[in-house]
Amino acid sequence: MIYLDHNATTAPSPAVLQAMAQTMAQHWANASSQHAPGQEARRCLGQARQQAAQALGCLPAELVFTSGATESNQLAVRGLLAGAPVGRRRVLFSEVEHSAHQGLARSLAAQGVSVGWLPVRPDGGLDLSAAAELITPEVALVSLMSANNETGVLMPLAEVAELTRRAGALLHTDATQWLGKLPFRFDDSVADAVSFSAHKFHGPKGVGGLLLRRGLGFQSPVPGSQERGRRGGTENLPAIVGLATALSGLGDVAAEARRQSALRDAMEQGLAQALPELQVWGQALARLPGTSYLRVGLLAADTVLQRLVRLGVAASSGAACSSGGSQPSHVLSAMGVPREQALAAVRLSLGRDSTAAEVAAVLQGLPPLLRPLLQEAPAAQTCH
Ligand code: PMP
Repeated sequence: MIYLDHNATTAPSPAVLQAMAQTMAQHWANASSQHAPGQEARRCLGQARQQAAQALGCLPAELVFTSGATESNQLAVRGLLAGAPVGRRRVLFSEVEHSAHQGLARSLAAQGVSVGWLPVRPDGGLDLSAAAELITPEVALVSLMSANNETGVLMPLAEVAELTRRAGALLHTDATQWLGKLPFRFDDSVADAVSFSAHKFHGPKGVGGLLLRRGLGFQSPVPGSQERGRRGGTENLPAIVGLATALSGLGDVAAEARRQSALRDAMEQGLAQALPELQVWGQALARLPGTSYLRVGLLAADTVLQRLVRLGVAASSGAACSSGGSQPSHVLSAMGVPREQALAAVRLSLGRDSTAAEVAAVLQGLPPLLRPLLQEAPAAQTCH
């Protein structure tokens, strides 16, 4: 199989699997217990926190382990909002945040919180002049992802951090797609809080982290004695050890990013030559190295994905399937992309195990399968 869906998830590395199996067998005790096995589990947790913190460029005390980015995002927004000074009750989200995070925004709005939306431009970049108007002194927090999971477009965190600093607001970033793909250190970051998920960089699923700058007003929505009162619940030690192992196994992220960018650019150029109907979103902007979000004319995403399956390629569409059929991606809708184009969106995302031979196989195999279809009328949209 040619796996081109690394933005959805990645395979756990052999080192991660081994470290997790060992931890599960050896340190099954509760890290909060006072007896010897509990204390050993606590020591193991401390070591994993130290190892992860070193790789993330943060202090061990700034790292809160969670069940993944969805929870980290909730924790950051709810916790920082609850801890914000009186008079600051407004929170801003970008229009292209991950769908789960948008769900949080809607549920906050339903609970009476003042929620605003930062728009994007037609090219997928953040509209900074609109952001400058929206980030006012009533705003407690701005939540802006570091990189979009569909288009791969990088968001202007430094510019927005300047706006939040001037307005006295905090900045949270969902760095789920950034971490592991581009260099990151919390001590260099402009954000006050950063979310991530281990399974996007060859760690296990169901574990992630929230980096929280010291001294911030924070009232946990999941209180408990663990994680310094910021996230209650017995720690998932094997998964946390897997996360730390994955982080320390990242290697030279900048060099790998250059390799993937070159591979991705070659793939896009090859496809554009063979299929002049190709459009790639976000191509003119700085993007995640391995992400390519494209359409081939108006061929339905499902049709293209089926042809990719014939070539042994696993990829994903930009459309969310619902009982009523395909829904265009909210990211493309926010960019003003017409519905029929948005329903043709396919995402190919390379990773560190992607090879030039795999890209060559796509370039050789895909155009001959799609060209005949382009001569026909656009296929009816289906959703499987
Ligand atoms: N944010 C972004 C940008 C993502 O891409 C994802 C995963 N697709 C998430 C949050 C959610 O991560 P998880 O499902 O691991 O909680």
